[in-house]
Amino acid sequence: MSERYDCIIIGAGPAGLGAALYTSRDRLRTLVLEKVYPGGQISTTDRIENYPGFERITGPDLIEKMLKQAQSFGAELKTSSEVTSIERLEDGNLLVHCDEDKYLTRSIILSPGSDYRKIGVAGEEEFRSAGAGVSYCGTCDAPFFKGKQVVAVGGGNTALEETLHLAKYAEKVTLIHRRDEFRATKILQEELLAKANEPNSNLIIKYSTIATAIEGEGKVQSVRLKNVKTGEEESYPCDGVFIFIGMVPNTGFLKGFVELTENGFVKCDCAYLRTNVPGVFVAGDCRVGAAMQLATAVADGVTAAMMLKQYFRDPNWWNEAVSDNLQPGGW
Ligand code: NAP
Repeated sequence: MSERYDCIIIGAGPAGLGAALYTSRDRLRTLVLEKVYPGGQISTTDRIENYPGFERITGPDLIEKMLKQAQSFGAELKTSSEVTSIERLEDGNLLVHCDEDKYLTRSIILSPGSDYRKIGVAGEEEFRSAGAGVSYCGTCDAPFFKGKQVVAVGGGNTALEETLHLAKYAEKVTLIHRRDEFRATKILQEELLAKANEPNSNLIIKYSTIATAIEGEGKVQSVRLKNVKTGEEESYPCDGVFIFIGMVPNTGFLKGFVELTENGFVKCDCAYLRTNVPGVFVAGDCRVGAAMQLATAVADGVTAAMMLKQYFRDPNWWNEAVSDNLQPGGW
């Protein structure tokens, strides 16, 4: 016999916990299902300074506060609970299947976040552990490379932030980027270039460069680099390779249940965050059009939780177009 909830939230990152605070505070019986442990991407962030109200806080500290706050209003959390599939029953209720348990609910907010993208070269899988030398998290693993030489890959915000972090530990950090222009925000680019231009800097930037293989015996000893403009190749000695090339949405379990884009992002109307399945909302980095920010992930969770009340009030609202007749301010 499955337990019945008003709302099941899948994923305990900022989007899921933002939603849980609102649904539980609204006296809706709320269950948050989390595959591993709460936090998502920010659980490995040691410096957050763009979340309003906190000049500086670590990811784990912020998540702990979010979780405690949601739980104080009654939200339940189940960790190590991987959702394998979801079905919509004839009466409109939704059945969420985990490995061993299943749960019945009136509504769902999907907030499973996203995962590390791989470059897909020889050696990446073989050396995948900080001890062996391939890592996707500078914040987690930089201390293991104190006084060593590392190569970082990527040109987005994560790559630049993490490279600057690595430079605090490593003897030498070489950032390689496949183009000759970074995608990251200007302020981070300025910070990176200032660091690289310091006299005797330990930070080197190689533009238009890709890694074609990660090599070593038992652990990383070098990476094969190729300049995509000249075709020139070299074997570049290093002790570690940090890969920061973006994220892939954790939506595999949703295939065939909700509509996804080619890249696996959940399709929704970006105003009310409704998917194509009535009663199923989406929030955070796994949806189309997400700004991929901590603050916008939380905001998504809150929006979904607010819109959910409209769905409970009138299930036919699901099929209505986005309208200015809805007045959430009056709720
Ligand atoms: P991203 O913005 O998608 O950047 C990915 C980077 O990796 C790009 O430079 C891309 O190159 C490169 N790349 C992709 N596939 C590659 C491959 N196969 N080989 C080599 N390079 C590859 O990802 P992100 O930096 O992880 O950021 C994700 C989101 O979080 C973004 O929206 C970002 O703004 C946000 N974020 C914000 C903050 C902050 O505000 N403090 C911090 C971290 C992340 P191209 O540029 O050539 O495509």
